[in-house]
Amino acid sequence: MPLSPHPLPDLRARLDELETAHLYRRRRVQDAPQQPQALINGRPMLSFCSNDYLGLANHPEVIAALQRGAARWGVGSGAAHLVSGHSAAHEALEETLAAFTGYPRALLFSTGYMANLGVIAALAGRGDRVCEDRLNHASLLDAALLARADLRRYPHADAPALARLLGDAATRLIATDGVFSMDGDLAPLPALTQIAHRAGAWLLIDDAHGLGVLGRGGRGSLDHFGLAPDASTILMGTLGKSFGTFGAFVAGSEDLIETLIQRARPYIYTTASPPALAEATCVSLGLVEREDWRRERLRALIARFRQGAAQLGLPLADSQTPIQPLLAGSAARALAWSQALEAQGILVSAIRPPTVPEGTARLRITFSAAHTEADIDRLLGALTRILADELSGGLFRPLERT
Ligand code: PMP
Repeated sequence: MPLSPHPLPDLRARLDELETAHLYRRRRVQDAPQQPQALINGRPMLSFCSNDYLGLANHPEVIAALQRGAARWGVGSGAAHLVSGHSAAHEALEETLAAFTGYPRALLFSTGYMANLGVIAALAGRGDRVCEDRLNHASLLDAALLARADLRRYPHADAPALARLLGDAATRLIATDGVFSMDGDLAPLPALTQIAHRAGAWLLIDDAHGLGVLGRGGRGSLDHFGLAPDASTILMGTLGKSFGTFGAFVAGSEDLIETLIQRARPYIYTTASPPALAEATCVSLGLVEREDWRRERLRALIARFRQGAAQLGLPLADSQTPIQPLLAGSAARALAWSQALEAQGILVSAIRPPTVPEGTARLRITFSAAHTEADIDRLLGALTRILADELSGGLFRPLERT
């Protein structure tokens, strides 16, 4: 008698549940480079979605460096760093990043996600305690789970609550976003560094959204608070945001970096990023450091938006960074706002659970030095129309499947 096969889990039913809850995510196909003037399915759109905060992703000098790098090194690195993939271009970028951040050494990772997995799982294991801000990036939370550490989450930016959670495990690690990726606010780094020092705990700062934007020459959140690098503070930075390229790095003490080379599995067991990319990042790093006008321009654009949004009574969050969320509450409302903006040729992502806590769905508006004042005014005009439409009851139409 033929065996009747055991049924597979019903993926379609789960997908339908996401759709019903307004949590289904769809990708948009970009037909042109990441910049404010985007092209989606052939249609020109004004984008406020990118993390290219300084407008360097399309900078001619960065593009030329990538092209020169490809001509010199080829496209792929061909192997992991510990096999034969580590080039003089990677080495030079690591040295430049160490000098830029003020740490003794820096180590390149292929992505920020992997860097966070690598650091936490290399330093903490079973029985060790990892304390994390509730609103940390997913990669920091996933890292503690991967490490099988005793993960404790403290209320957002609540340093006293963190101090009470640290416990007395042999290894204790605190991890926080420098600038919170969905809220745009800053971690209380002076208090966190003090707690870490007193307790002999590591403090890992994920400064994906602070580097390039905050601090002198774009040195990031630590510098913004006037804090100097030290042996217990570990910095993780990504290169795909303000730097406009791709990849990530960890900066820290000599012994920390050597430990990561020996023990960080997402470093050891993956192909090194292309050397040409390292050359491009070296050039963009120079621009980040030198061109203060990009940060000044960004600050002026943020101020213009916040002033206009406050006049309109928009539900602004308390953020002074290029991440400016507008709190919608329900996923359905955030999606309706995003779709209404899209109908007006403006691209802003609706951020919904599980990326943010239930009931705090939002539009995540991000600004770039490549935006113009007219772009900001166009966004404010579109938001005004949406709010008026919502007040008159016209916005919440049944959502169509696309
Ligand atoms: N940390 C934070 C705070 C981030 O926002 C991101 C990117 N979304 C990452 C880490 C991951 O970086 P990458 O995109 O280089 O993997």
